[in-house]
Amino acid sequence: MANISIDPRYHRLARFHRIQNAGVEKLNDATVVILGCGALGSQHAETLARSGIGHLILIDRDFVELTNLQRQTLFTEEDAKLSLPKVIALKNHLAEINSTIKVTAHIADVSGDNIVNLIKGADLLLDGTDNLALRMLINDACYQLNMPWIFGSALESYGMSHNFNFPRLPELPCLRCILGAIPLESGDTCSSVGVIQPILQLISSVQTIEAMKFFVDAESSRDTLFTMDLWVSRSQNVNLVKLKNPNCPTCGNHPTYPSLQEKKREAQRLCGDGSVMIREVEPLDLAKIQQSLAKDNIKHQFNEYFLNIHLENHRVILFKDGRGIVYNTSDIGEALAIYKRVVEK
Ligand SMILES: [Zn+2]
Repeated sequence: MANISIDPRYHRLARFHRIQNAGVEKLNDATVVILGCGALGSQHAETLARSGIGHLILIDRDFVELTNLQRQTLFTEEDAKLSLPKVIALKNHLAEINSTIKVTAHIADVSGDNIVNLIKGADLLLDGTDNLALRMLINDACYQLNMPWIFGSALESYGMSHNFNFPRLPELPCLRCILGAIPLESGDTCSSVGVIQPILQLISSVQTIEAMKFFVDAESSRDTLFTMDLWVSRSQNVNLVKLKNPNCPTCGNHPTYPSLQEKKREAQRLCGDGSVMIREVEPLDLAKIQQSLAKDNIKHQFNEYFLNIHLENHRVILFKDGRGIVYNTSDIGEALAIYKRVVEK
């Protein structure tokens, strides 16, 4: 047997008879997108970095907050104190764990306008998002790019995962085909009903092992929907093949990819915590806004990524790309007025 020398950090990985040295090399050559770097995504990033995935592309729009630390591994109190964007905090920690891999970080609000450009060129996408609308966007973008993706979600003590590896198994349905037949979204969010860390670790592990198999041993990939309720110790593998819709606008014969055509909404209520996200197309000059806030003695924090403003009854966060989050309101009109007041200072 040829004695290929590998980085000692991967010795135990290579010892595993299903992976071996050749498998380690395949992982080193892989490029994986992690879309959503919260509870699931931060764990995907850590496991895949330690396993030597050669290039990780991290995409997320949020910054680290203290409420994240219960379940979002790698993030620290210091990251929350500095309000670092999640992808930047992750990139910093991953560099200390494995400096031999490449990590690309995108602070971005993913939409039909930008998703294809952000993810193209990768071999595989891991879903670290927390809502169905984003997963539908991933589904359309991945089918258009012919890029397999691995779905994962968890709420309370229940979670599920599925491999959308359609280039290998085109007879299986896409996410759009199974809408309505599988309860993919209940209307609850983890901020309203909560979630426990062990189910997130389990679903994240199911996704990352499937990602490793995808590169090393595709024949062993799971082709059923996996569900698990950890509290009552019940799991299922559900065969989805009957749900394939030959006229599906994503995976059917004449795809139109409807989610990629949807226009970005200017503003939307965010789940659970009484806040509104504003999306403006024009980028903001944060340094200029910061100067006028300082002149008016308005309390704020400023770093290279965003501006955090404390008004009397509201908190506003402005991002360089024009986005803003207005806290302590669910009224879109009021949020837009507050946003305009601070950016037009
Ligand atoms: Zn479909």
